[in-house]
Formats: sequence, C-alpha cells, structure tokens
Amino acid sequence: MANSTDFLLALEGVTVSFDGFKAVNDLNLYIDKGELRVIIGPNGAGKTTVLDLICGRTKVSSGSIKFKDQEITGLKEHDIVKRGIGRKFQTPSIYEDLTVFENLEISLPRGRNVVGALLWNRTPEIVERVREVTEMIFLADHLDRLAETLSHGQKQWLEIGMLLIQDPEVLMLDEPVAGMSVSERAKTAELLNKIIQNRSVVVIEHDMKFVESIAHRVTVLHQGKVLAEGNMDAIQADPKVKEVYLGH
Ligand code: ADP
Ligand code: MG
Repeated sequence: MANSTDFLLALEGVTVSFDGFKAVNDLNLYIDKGELRVIIGPNGAGKTTVLDLICGRTKVSSGSIKFKDQEITGLKEHDIVKRGIGRKFQTPSIYEDLTVFENLEISLPRGRNVVGALLWNRTPEIVERVREVTEMIFLADHLDRLAETLSHGQKQWLEIGMLLIQDPEVLMLDEPVAGMSVSERAKTAELLNKIIQNRSVVVIEHDMKFVESIAHRVTVLHQGKVLAEGNMDAIQADPKVKEVYLGH
C-alpha cells in the first residue's frame, strides 16, 4: 500500500454501486501536487463518477478519499470546495445575463449569492483579481460583455475562470474541449499549462490530440478500474488499451 502522505489526492479501494452495478470498482488513484493528470476511457468507464466521488456529489459505497492526507470521504460538496477542490461540469454553469466581469466577481469566495455579491463595493483588489483571471482565460478584452454573447469556448473558459478565482489547489475538468474549435482547443491546452504552475489539474478527455498536447500522466479507466497508467507513449503502446479502444 502506497504512503498516502506523499499525494495531494489519494483514492484507495474506492467503490460505488448503483443498484448493485459497480460504476467504480476498488479504484486506487493518486494525484501529485502540481500534476496535470488526464483520465481517459470508453463511455461508461466511470470517469465522471470518479469526479463526482471526489467532489462529494456521489457518496462512496466503500473506500477512502484523502486530500492532503485528510479524509474527505463523506464531507458535503460545499465543504470539499472550501478545502480547495474545484470542479467544472460538462455543461457550463455561468450566469448568461451577467457580464464576464460580474460572473467572476460573484465567484470570489465571499460571493454566496448573486444579489449579495453585486451589492459589495468593487474594491481595487477585486478589480485586480478579476483582471488577472481574465488575462489567463483570454477574456481581458471582453470584461463588459454579457456572458450570453460569448462563443461556446469562451463560456467554457469563463467557467474555468470562475473556479480559478476561488484559488483551488485541485481543479477537476470534465471534457473541457468538447464542442470547441481547433484554435480554442489549442488555447485551452495553453491555459491548463498555465494553471498547473501552482495547482494540480485532473482532466477527463476524449480528444486524443488534445490529450497528447497536455498530458503529463494518463490514467485509462475501464469498468471502474485503472486499466493502465503512464505517459502518452506508454499508454498508446499498451496492448490492453488498444484492445479496449478497438472499434472506438
Ligand atoms: P464515463 O464518464 O466514463 O462515461 P460515468 O461515470 O458517467 O462514465 O458512468 C459510469 C457508469 O455508471 C455508467 O454505466 C453509468 O450509466 C452509471 N452511472 C453513473 N451515474 C449513475 C447514477 N447516478 N445512477 C445509476 N447509474 C449511474
Ligand atoms: Mg463522463
């Protein structure tokens, strides 16, 4: 058994059953500090469920999830966010009728609800922090645009920004480049590489070209278990992986 103190995030023996079906089955997964980990695997492999378990949306049936060597299994979603784990869902949950600036402003940690957050004074610190984040997410020139007028890719970046502004230690993203153009994908890879300069990132992704462009380590999930783990070259040469992806 690995020493979990070495890892930022450690899942050990994690199982979840939905009516007897084990979507995640005795899974061990370790994420290092400063790592960009990509999780791939066929549809139904359990990828999204793993993120649901880490962020507390779904309860484990058995096993342990530790963050910075502290058990987070069973904590409420809200408490897990407060500890520093941010998660982006597949569909962006931005406020369409607010501007880019306002979306980021209300996502600052003290923003509990839209009305309350907008009543606060816009201190120079808040403006500066929002600017910093918009630079990272390629929206610095779009601060006053209504979110509904952004492209699909820009909306995805805005949502990443809404997580970044909360300064999480781990950011988890479920298929962030789905539906993005080629140039938006390239910029998203650039964004993720900037993000990992001071935090860990876990990304679920299907697009193999994108995976190649960002991955440090890749974990292949299959039937709720780790099928293979390693760098992209090792994964692509792995006969077990080839078998699972035949006809995919
Ligand atoms: P992936 O993201 O790898 O495509 P998921 O984690 O979404 O896979 O799903 C893994 C399996 O678990 C699928 O067979 C799915 O139907 C099932 N599943 C996921 N969530 C639930 C749920 N809340 N209730 C019942 N079955 C679920
Ligand atoms: Mg999924």
